Order: sequence, then structure tokens, then C-alpha cells
Amino acid sequence: MLYRLNYAPVAPARKAPILLMSRSSNKANAQPRQGVSAARLAQAVERARTIFAERNLRFTDLREQVFAEIAATNGAIGAYDILDRLSGKGTRLAPISVYRSIDALLDAGVIHRLESKNAYFACRRHEHDKHGRPIFLACERCGTVTEAEAQGVFDLINQVARGQGFDARVKFVEVSGVCSKCAPAAARSGAS
Ligand SMILES: [Zn+2]
Ligand SMILES: [Zn+2]
Repeated sequence: MLYRLNYAPVAPARKAPILLMSRSSNKANAQPRQGVSAARLAQAVERARTIFAERNLRFTDLREQVFAEIAATNGAIGAYDILDRLSGKGTRLAPISVYRSIDALLDAGVIHRLESKNAYFACRRHEHDKHGRPIFLACERCGTVTEAEAQGVFDLINQVARGQGFDARVKFVEVSGVCSKCAPAAARSGAS
């Protein structure tokens, strides 16, 4: 319902964004923010700009702003958090504008979608074709998302599926767990 409304081809409101999700429920789902340094963020934005240029795509101001919000965190961020943050900086947008930018960034491969969280994170690698497809590793404690090349995982899934006469079309594999920074804390709290 929410999705259908967000994508409805209606003219965006001219002034205030239409918030279809309550802010409180949105905040409850937000990951703790893991900021990246200004230098790293600038580097990520430049890399994204280059990738857009190489593909003859336009890295519009809005796409850049949305990308910068996503790349500013080591975790994943939802569309409504992006809206909130842009709005806090004086850029008030209709959700559909943000979703369109997100789609363009996904198509260009500079961000990925974490299905389990309905959130987005900046691609950390940019060389997927060369090194095989990555799996996404999402920390349950701090929200950090990393990528690890694991073409073998996809090969095995395809092989097992083929054995069942099934044509698998796995695009991404997400693994949730505890990252190396959070692991000691997890051990102390009695996790086996
Ligand atoms: Zn990536
Ligand atoms: Zn962690």
C-alpha cells in the first residue's frame, strides 16, 4: 500500500513532502548512524560522479545530494530518513523525487538495496564485474554494511537450483550477523 502510493504517477506536491510513514515508526527502524569522514565522503561522491560520466548518465544535483546522504553512513539508510535529512538542510522534496534519484543510483551501481531493511548503502567496491558478485554483510549491532566478493556462493545456489530444474535469478545475497568491531561485545554478552 505504502509502496503503491509512493510510486503513484501523480504530480508531486509543490510545497511540503507528503509523508506517508509516521516519523516515529520511521525513527524506530533507523539504524544507529555510523558517520564517515568528510574526506571519504568527498571521495565517494567523486567516484560516483565518474561512474555516471562513464555511462553517459547525468549526475544531477538531486542525485548527488541523495547519494551523499547514503554515502555519509557506513550503515544503510531508508528513503524517508534521506528525505528527513535533506529537509533538515532546507531541501524539501516529494518522496517520489527521492525514489527516482534512488532508482538512478541503483541502476548506475553506485548504491545497493538492503532488502531486509528496505534501505540503501553506497557500493564500497566498484569493481564487481572484475571480481565477481558480492554478498552483503549487515551487522545487527551497529548497522554497518560491508561487501565481500563471493561468486562461489552464487555459483552454488545456481547449481543447487538447476538440480531441481529451477532457473535461479539471485541478484544479491544478504547475510546478517555481528561485525568484527561488535564481536567482542557480542561475546561478553554471552552469545555463543
Ligand atoms: Zn557494491
Ligand atoms: Zn557491528
